[in-house]
Amino acid sequence: MTSPYISRFAPSPSGPLHLGSLLAAVAGWLDARAAGGQWLLRIEDIDPPREPAGAKDWILEALVAHGLNWNGEPMLQSSRGDAYRAALDQLTAAGMVFRCTCTRQDLRAHDGVYPGTCRDRGMAALPEGTPHALRVRVPEGDAARIRFEDRLRGDRVFDLAAEQGDFVIRRKDGLWAYQLAVVVDDAEQGITDVVRGVDLLDSTPRQIHLQRTLGLPTPRYLHLPILVDQRGDKLSKQAGAMGLDLTTPRANLARTLAWLDLPSDPRATVQTQLERALAHYRPQNLPPGPIHLC
Ligand code: GLU
Ligand code: ZN
Repeated sequence: MTSPYISRFAPSPSGPLHLGSLLAAVAGWLDARAAGGQWLLRIEDIDPPREPAGAKDWILEALVAHGLNWNGEPMLQSSRGDAYRAALDQLTAAGMVFRCTCTRQDLRAHDGVYPGTCRDRGMAALPEGTPHALRVRVPEGDAARIRFEDRLRGDRVFDLAAEQGDFVIRRKDGLWAYQLAVVVDDAEQGITDVVRGVDLLDSTPRQIHLQRTLGLPTPRYLHLPILVDQRGDKLSKQAGAMGLDLTTPRANLARTLAWLDLPSDPRATVQTQLERALAHYRPQNLPPGPIHLC
């Protein structure tokens, strides 16, 4: 790639890194280094009740142990409230935001597509203390079709209105939603390339919609294979995936590289393994996955 390249690894510090997150970190690091680009770090700590104390430090320590050096200082989403507020104000001024009082129960029958119940209420005042989320409107008709080119998976088209509908940008509990925070911060960090798990593929059209509405650039996207358990479910901290054993970084890295169809050797240092992998890395040769653990 000849154009400038800035990418990021953006873990949520809901626990220590596990093998699934290591896979995303290794592939992301390789993609950035192969492009001669920067690999930034962003800690997505916007959900304090789900973040054990010390999780951020475990993550940094795990990256260092596996030779995954990042550029610059990590960005912390917990310090970015003013920027999220400014983006919300901009969307509100454009008439794109409304207060939603729907409960999970109300939405259950709609298969994850918001039925538009509160759409016409806009920002009209609610009785004092009424719990509500803020949602952003998605376009209707042809304008709802969002198309992007995934660097591994090719041309993708989504119909935002039919598949997802108006979505949450600030949660009922007052916390900022991932979709808003990620878009504001990708722009702030100058991200040209988003490299992340394919479990987030269907978030991409929502993020592109927000970028367009906020007048922000749309980066390139590469959605990586993810690691799944025997049942085919994504390995996640919520699902109880074990934290990485930091006493065996060479073996952890070798497993990860093998899953990515790259040369691996658990006897070599992490630096040597990464160098060899880098020499062979081609984004278009990544396996699409899913990758079954054991
Ligand atoms: N924080 C998200 C996660 O841990 C990733 C966000 C992103 O890469 O866009 O799953
Ligand atoms: Zn609603």
